[in-house]
Amino acid sequence: QKHSSSSIRSTFIEYFEVNHGHKHVKSSSVVPLYDPTVPFVNAGMNQFKGVFLGKVAPPCAKAVNSQKCVRVGGKHNDLDVVGTDGHHHTFFEMLGNWSFGDYYKKEACEMAWQLLLGPYGLKPENLVVTYFSGDVAIGQKMDTDCRDIWRKIGVADSRLMARGARDNFWEMGTTGPCGPCTEIHFVNPDGSLTEIWNLVFINSFRDDNGKVNSLAKYHVDTGMGLERMAAILQGVPSNYDTDLFQPLIKAIEKNSKGVSPYGGSYAPDAVLDAAYRRLADHARMISVCLADGVFPATRILYDEVVETLGTTYPELVTKEIDAKLIIDHEEQGYAKMRSGLKKKMRDLVKQYPEVKTLSDVELPGFVQGYKELKETMAKQKSTEIPGDLVFKLYDTHGLQEDLIKRIADLNKLSIDNKGFWSLLAKHKARHKTAIKEQDNRGQLFDEALKNLRSNGYVNTNDQPKYDYIQK
Ligand code: ATP
Ligand code: MG
Ligand code: MG
Ligand code: MG
Repeated sequence: QKHSSSSIRSTFIEYFEVNHGHKHVKSSSVVPLYDPTVPFVNAGMNQFKGVFLGKVAPPCAKAVNSQKCVRVGGKHNDLDVVGTDGHHHTFFEMLGNWSFGDYYKKEACEMAWQLLLGPYGLKPENLVVTYFSGDVAIGQKMDTDCRDIWRKIGVADSRLMARGARDNFWEMGTTGPCGPCTEIHFVNPDGSLTEIWNLVFINSFRDDNGKVNSLAKYHVDTGMGLERMAAILQGVPSNYDTDLFQPLIKAIEKNSKGVSPYGGSYAPDAVLDAAYRRLADHARMISVCLADGVFPATRILYDEVVETLGTTYPELVTKEIDAKLIIDHEEQGYAKMRSGLKKKMRDLVKQYPEVKTLSDVELPGFVQGYKELKETMAKQKSTEIPGDLVFKLYDTHGLQEDLIKRIADLNKLSIDNKGFWSLLAKHKARHKTAIKEQDNRGQLFDEALKNLRSNGYVNTNDQPKYDYIQK
């Protein structure tokens, strides 16, 4: 195969390393190090955040890498579209090059353009470029420098578009490094656009108060989606048809007895095809996360993920036994829980036919909660279930809002929704802080730190210090 995913990856690395003097830096773990502002590493630049903010000395002037990225939760959450489109995954690889206060816009655009047209062989008539149109709310002007650079490179005005902050002002999270960006899109045969490469000019950071402040030094941070590039260069309609996903899709077909094979349809009613895509996506995400020490879910596909990614990210191989043990444990636990729940459900419905069905989370606390509701309501005169009791049924006994409503209707009772919602809001606020406090990813830090140090860019005397690490 001319443009296998591994050749696309190595072409990128070699282009920047050999032709343009960048240092090849290893992918970091998908677990963010020292950083509570993102749930997972969501871009190649995450591990350089300290450098951009001026807290850590840069490892080198220019770097290149392929980074394992997870976009579940946080600012760049793509979970909802995975499976329904062919180019957003929960896990993907981002190829990127960086300048730490070295080259800036002109060189970055030129190098990107030459790689696309040269080694990757794309044609300018199949590409469209966007640049930042400015935004008064964050005190940012239109990026005319960037526009003029593209004009000089030879991009026609008809292929150059200005866009607002949503697409062309890149931010890592709700706080952190940010800046105007320029996005290179591929024009698909049907005329739709697929974003392939984003070049960010990191010149600012957003602080805890939401204010965008200028940085002392300007940097370049770029990211290209490997799976998208593979689909384009392999001439297939979607990322799922590339060599990165086909072994997974085939394995799912083999493991799903009595289910139709993958049809590759994106029609809204192509539920099965979307399910294939989600499962393939999930297998990659969960396997990579497990190998990086994140906890749990389907052993069946780990091997295929190792087959497609194991050479690039060897921890998938070295951590294979541990990861599979965790998956097995989860699978057995899940099967045991399911059979137990099924039996309990049959018994309960016999006893309380008026309830009809219960969800898994409601089963354990239902009997106690139902009893308490009946007793309390028998004692009080009003037929309105008080907010604190509704909250207790919800929080302590696990009954969901619609079940509580159903029970209330059945017993001709009303619900103090206002009281309930105010307690719920308070509870959610508390819960958020509790999660932060529990966050104990300490064991992983040593290993991640070791990797970072071997890349040479963590200054041991100047480690960023966040509260939860010291606990
Ligand atoms: P999009 O607009 O398509 O959601 P993005 O602007 O959010 O992409 P960036 O944050 O600019 O993406 O990331 C850099 C590159 O990573 C993108 O140009 C794209 O090629 C790739 N990419 C982004 N999100 C995903 C994803 N969920 N799955 C696969 N590749 C992705
Ligand atoms: Mg996005
Ligand atoms: Mg975009
Ligand atoms: Mg982008």
